Amino acid sequence: MRIAVASGKGGTGKTTLAVNLAYFNHIDLFDLDVEEPNCHIFVKGRREERTVYRKVPKVEESKCDYCGVCKDVCEYNAIVVLKDKIYVFQELCHSCGACSYFCPREAIEEVDKPIGKVVKVRSDINLTYGILEVGEATPVPLIREVKREIGSKAIIDCPPGNSCPMVESVRDSDFCILVCEPTPFSYHDVKIAMDVVKSLDVKFGVVINKYGLPFNIEDRLDAPILGKIPFKKEIAEKYSRGEILKGYEETFRDIYERVISL
Ligand code: SF4
Ligand code: SF4
Repeated sequence: MRIAVASGKGGTGKTTLAVNLAYFNHIDLFDLDVEEPNCHIFVKGRREERTVYRKVPKVEESKCDYCGVCKDVCEYNAIVVLKDKIYVFQELCHSCGACSYFCPREAIEEVDKPIGKVVKVRSDINLTYGILEVGEATPVPLIREVKREIGSKAIIDCPPGNSCPMVESVRDSDFCILVCEPTPFSYHDVKIAMDVVKSLDVKFGVVINKYGLPFNIEDRLDAPILGKIPFKKEIAEKYSRGEILKGYEETFRDIYERVISL
């Protein structure tokens, strides 16, 4: 079973839940928050990495007559054609291949551009994560590359928010755990996340982190409550030191059992 851990709002405890859920239930962990991965802080071990590339256009100006066809077919404004000069902005390019396909003079070659790395860590649990190159317009191609490593049993730490990276990460999962905290802001964002996950037709439930704060989120949510992580200084201290939450094994085993039962 592939279990995605998402939240809507960042900073709600998504990584805390994903790492400890994987650790205490002996499941491979995947960090798809490729713009800011942090599961590796908790999982230290032998590392292997490989670079991931995408195709971007390279213009052979000696063949180009500056007709502007490539600029016109580019939906992302990644090409500017002047009277006697052409510029390609690789950061804006989405690697659709349209410009090279339609160029009447075959002046465009597709070349590899590095977009980031896929890293594997072998430890008590196996972790796979992505690191996006600075300046890349979208993390989705690298997220897809990390997803290719996911087997039939996995915990997936998703990017925060409710936009394309989160959708790409939750899609293809068997279940999604939405993490929230008892605050009005988190309540607002988790409701949006619930709508997104429903639209993807993925089953879901909610884990309340920092349980004990005064805002009553539990009675407001129309979703199964899978578990609660208490609001304790000891948990925050362990997290800040990059430690697994030993002493709270039952909390994370119970959440996993509840997901399986649903
Ligand atoms: S379509 Fe080809 S020939 Fe025309 S401006 Fe672009 S690269 Fe040059
Ligand atoms: S590959 Fe697509 S997105 Fe990139 S420059 Fe060409 S037309 Fe634009």
